[in-house]
Amino acid sequence: MSDCLFCKIIAGEIPSKKLYEDELCYAFYDIDPQAPTHFLVVPKEHISGPSAVTEENAAVVGHIYAVIAKLASELKLENGYRVVANCGADGGQTVGHLHFHVLAGRSLAWPPG
Ligand code: AMP
Ligand code: ZN
Repeated sequence: MSDCLFCKIIAGEIPSKKLYEDELCYAFYDIDPQAPTHFLVVPKEHISGPSAVTEENAAVVGHIYAVIAKLASELKLENGYRVVANCGADGGQTVGHLHFHVLAGRSLAWPPG
């Protein structure tokens, strides 16, 4: 999608602090971190958000969770972490490209505000 912020980041048209990349996904640090460690993992395919996941495109979601587990191990997030995918206005989604936040390095409140 030509006007999508995260598609532009994946294409290298907008700079990012890259953490990981493979043929299916791209991981980079959040520009406004909400925890000592806060990165995003996004599919390279433009999917507008959690509500646009279908049986046809869902495999990348499982792949992303496997990548997150690998990155968490490499980053030694031994105390745990939280994976969040916000959806729509009430869910707090501000970028219309599916992304998984990974937050770690402090105790996170539950339930979220
Ligand atoms: P959400 O509110 O769940 O849609 O999350 C969007 C996230 O993207 C927010 O945490 C933003 O801080 C982050 N973000 C926005 N622009 C950039 C950027 N250029 N580089 C890295 N992260 C960004
Ligand atoms: Zn996109």
